[in-house]
Amino acid sequence: LRIAVLAPPWIPVPPPGYGGIEAVVALLCDELVARGHDVTLFAAPGSRSRARVHAPLAAPQSRLMGRALYECDHVADALDETDWAAARGAPFDVIHDHSGFTALAMAARVRTPIVHTVHGPVSGDMARFYERHGHKARLVAINSMQFPSVPAGARPVAVIPNPIAVDQWPLNTRKQDFLLWVGRMDPTKGAHRAIGVALRSRRPLVLAGPIQEGQDEYFRSRVEPQIDGRQIVYLGEIGGSRRKQLFARACAFLMPIRWPEPFGMVMVEALACGTPVLAFPEGAASEIVIDGVNGFHVGDEQEMVRAIGRLDTIDPRRCRESVVTRYDVARVAGLYEAVYAEAIERAPRPAGLRFGHGRRGGEPVRAPADVRRGAVAMAGA
Ligand code: UDP
Repeated sequence: LRIAVLAPPWIPVPPPGYGGIEAVVALLCDELVARGHDVTLFAAPGSRSRARVHAPLAAPQSRLMGRALYECDHVADALDETDWAAARGAPFDVIHDHSGFTALAMAARVRTPIVHTVHGPVSGDMARFYERHGHKARLVAINSMQFPSVPAGARPVAVIPNPIAVDQWPLNTRKQDFLLWVGRMDPTKGAHRAIGVALRSRRPLVLAGPIQEGQDEYFRSRVEPQIDGRQIVYLGEIGGSRRKQLFARACAFLMPIRWPEPFGMVMVEALACGTPVLAFPEGAASEIVIDGVNGFHVGDEQEMVRAIGRLDTIDPRRCRESVVTRYDVARVAGLYEAVYAEAIERAPRPAGLRFGHGRRGGEPVRAPADVRRGAVAMAGA
C-alpha cells in the first residue's frame, strides 16, 4: 500500500524525550515499511524514519502544543502533498492520521480514505467533536472503554492498542528499591500523589517528565516543595538509554492517575522491562495492568502503599510477557493493515467539495516550497 502517515507537528519522530504519540508513529512507520508498504511520514522537522519523511513546518513547536496555527499549517500542507501525489498519478491508498483535530474535521473533503487513531479521552468537548466529525473517517480507539457514548456513525471500527518494540527494552529481574513515576506535570497524571505514596511507604521516588505550558503553577506548588534530592528526586525530562535503565531498575512504576487514561505508554514500557505497575484502574490502565499478574489495581494512595508490600509476588518475566502477547509492534501493524484494507474497500465518495477549491485547471495550487516553509517562522510565532 501507499500510506501517508500524519504525525502531530509538535515533537520530532521518534521523540528525543517526552512524546507518546510520536513513539507510536515511529514504531508503526518502521514496521509498515518492513512489511513492504510505501510509507510517507508527515511530521515535525528533525524526524527520522524508515519511511520517507516530509516536514511541513519550519521548526517543531513543542512549547506551543495545540495551537491551531501550527496544526492547520502542518495538516494543510500534508493534504496538499497527498493531492499532488494523486495529480501526478501516484495517489496514496490511505492516510493514517494521528495529528489532532484538523484532518478529521476536514476528512470528508479529502479524496483519500482516512483512518484516524483517537489518541485522547472521548469526553466533554472531545465527545461532541467526535459526534460531529467522527463519521468522516474510520476511527480506531486505543482502549476498549474510550468511547462511552457516541452516535453509531462515529463509533470506532476497531480497538487497536499502542505498540511497543519489546526487544528494544531491557528485561531486568534484579530490582533496586526506588519507585518510578514518569509523565507530564499535569495533576491528572498524579506526580503529587506518587510523592505522597513514597513518603508514606518510606521509599525513594524518582520523578521524570517535562513541565509543559500551563503546568508551572502545579509543579511549583504541589511537586517542587517535596523534592529534596534524596528521597524525592526530580530529573526533568529524560530520554535515551537513561530512561530505559530507570524503567528497568525501578521496583515499581506508579500510575496514580485521575483521568480516563487513553493508553499510557509508560505502563507498557515499564512492563517490557519487567517492572510491575501499580495503577488506579482508570481507562486503559484497567486493561494494561492485570491485577496480581503484572502489577496491582489500587483505588487510592493508601492502597498503593499497601501494594508496595506485595511487590515480591509479581514475576518480572510475566510483566514482560503480558506486553509481548498484546502490544508487540508486529501484531499492532497487522491489525492496522486490516483497518486500512477495510477503509480502502469502503471509502465513501462523499458529494461536495473536491477539486473545485484551491485548484486551477485540475492541478492543486500551492506556494513555492521555500515560501511555505518560511511562512510560520515569518509570522513571528
Ligand atoms: N517520556 C520520556 N521522557 C520524559 C517523560 C516521558 O521519554 O521525561 C515518554 C514516556 O516514556 C512515554 C511518553 O513520553 O513514551 C509519554 O506517553 P504516555 O502515553 O505515557 O503519556 P501521555 O501521552 O498521556 O502524555
